[in-house]
Amino acid sequence: MQADTLITGATVITMDAQRRVIRDGAVAFAGDTIVAVGKSADLAGIDAREVIDGSGFVLTPGFINCHVHVTETLIRGFIPEDLPFEENLGKWVIPLYKSHDAAEQAVSAKMAVAAMLRSGTTTFIEAGTVIAFDEVMAAIEGTGIRARMGRWAEDRAWDPSADQQAMTAEAFDALAADVAAYPQDGRRIAAWPNLIGHMTSTDALWQQVTDLAKQTGTKVSAHMSPAIDDSQWYLANTGRRPVEHLADLGVLGPHLNLVHMVHIDQAEADLVAQSGTNVTQCPGASIQGGYGLTQHGLFPELAAAGVNIALGTDGADNHDMMRAMPLMAALFKDARQDRALFPAHEVLEMATLNGAKVLGMADSLGSIAVGMKADLVAHDTRRPEWQPINNPVDQLVWSANGSGVHSVWVDGVRVVEAFRCTTIDEDALYAQGQAMADAVLGRSGLPLLSEWPIN
Ligand SMILES: [Zn+2]
Repeated sequence: MQADTLITGATVITMDAQRRVIRDGAVAFAGDTIVAVGKSADLAGIDAREVIDGSGFVLTPGFINCHVHVTETLIRGFIPEDLPFEENLGKWVIPLYKSHDAAEQAVSAKMAVAAMLRSGTTTFIEAGTVIAFDEVMAAIEGTGIRARMGRWAEDRAWDPSADQQAMTAEAFDALAADVAAYPQDGRRIAAWPNLIGHMTSTDALWQQVTDLAKQTGTKVSAHMSPAIDDSQWYLANTGRRPVEHLADLGVLGPHLNLVHMVHIDQAEADLVAQSGTNVTQCPGASIQGGYGLTQHGLFPELAAAGVNIALGTDGADNHDMMRAMPLMAALFKDARQDRALFPAHEVLEMATLNGAKVLGMADSLGSIAVGMKADLVAHDTRRPEWQPINNPVDQLVWSANGSGVHSVWVDGVRVVEAFRCTTIDEDALYAQGQAMADAVLGRSGLPLLSEWPIN
């Protein structure tokens, strides 16, 4: 058998159907596809163009980040952490977002991609908040990451004199044009008709994007119920809770990824389960934002009902899925005082296989198995947080972090090598990012509110 690359002598966490963890394991891939997985001795006969000594490495499938805002990176660390949800969004996040020019958004997105690749994320779903869509698509195209991208899309006319129909048509037409311009047909980076969600999208827009997703084989990702505001708004305006209202509209289903879903009740959880709707939790954002995940979240109930739960990192403060995993594994253990909830192996499934299901790519992403895409992460275990190695799965989740990611392949292309991106000039990008951050924040007129003097 021939292959382009053969990695030998590694510990391989396959995430395959048997969930094999192979010591002294090997993986071979040809083009973008894995062609052999097994013990190094069993793959010794493979004629590979490149042989990589994987001893000292743990190999995992690439992580799948199912919710990230890529154009928030330049404002990282700038927004005060103590603001109420509405003030945080209305006075800081959204005005800052909208004050970026296209070039600034493109650099911001590329920085987010660098952060994801460097910590082992090979695929992400954008939250649906990119404004300069074509410029951002062009900027990340050459990075090698896999992505489903969404333009900023909301249509509710808060001003009663506005033309609601025209606003809905404008939002939908832009999304439909993106899906046509960047179709999924085998491309690594494609557009989805994502919605901001919450209460910002009308029933008509929800139904139109659902039809579009079903016609084109794309999906819809949308925020819902991180805080109590969404349920209060839906109850006041529709008489139903958000997920009940979406069920009435007929827009729930496996094509939908509802993000956050902290403030839902059991009836909504049941509707999510019955409809096959996916749920993405961003535990770092939930606890940083004080959403009440541990007090109100029904994630153990959603999991027990068989809901596909995936993970995301959400905002700009970090993009490391290896920080999201231990949080998801820990929070409900503590909240419910039940150590059996969300064990390490289950949260690793959330970060890989479950994410692949959200994408509709369960047959090609999420595991290291023959026929799957060669999206791989090599974790360097010659580091104090990894040693000694007893149970690699538990240690991946509880002990390691994304800084130990040595190499990453997407579609068989090595996009990170020796802790640096091969597709991005990181030094140049960071210099550009700092200059642009200074410009964006300077223009905003908003002050840097630091408790301590920064001179
Ligand atoms: Zn978000």
